[in-house]
Amino acid sequence: MGERRCRYCQQDFQPSKFQPRQAVCGGAECQRKRRTNYHREKITADPEYREVCRDSRRKWRASHPDYWKEYRGNHPAAVERNRQRQKLRDRKRWLRNLANNNSALDLKHSAAQVWLVGPGAAHLANNNSAPAQIWVIEALPARPASPA
Ligand SMILES: [Zn+2]
Repeated sequence: MGERRCRYCQQDFQPSKFQPRQAVCGGAECQRKRRTNYHREKITADPEYREVCRDSRRKWRASHPDYWKEYRGNHPAAVERNRQRQKLRDRKRWLRNLANNNSALDLKHSAAQVWLVGPGAAHLANNNSAPAQIWVIEALPARPASPA
């Protein structure tokens, strides 16, 4: 049986005789990535699997009711980071609502350029009668969390 190249670490490996279609080497980090990717794809494609995972998390939380309280007590930096991120989400939602509830007349009184921020502002730019140059600025997608 010939060697294959691992799709994650790019190292050559010998596939298991029990898994002839094996595409990922047996390294712990590569196997972890393989399982994570499988789970991520499966959870978006399979509603039943998604429900089972949600139920599993629910049961775990019910049997460990103080876990998150203790985690927050032991990780003040994480608490602060979450607080800042929530503030940012709240501000974005506030800006989106402000843009949606804004009339074109109000925009006319502003400068020649109107800056609309956020993905929800794209349709607003098309339906706006303000005689101005309008820039819709999309936020970059969130970077995936770095592996711990
Ligand atoms: Zn590998």
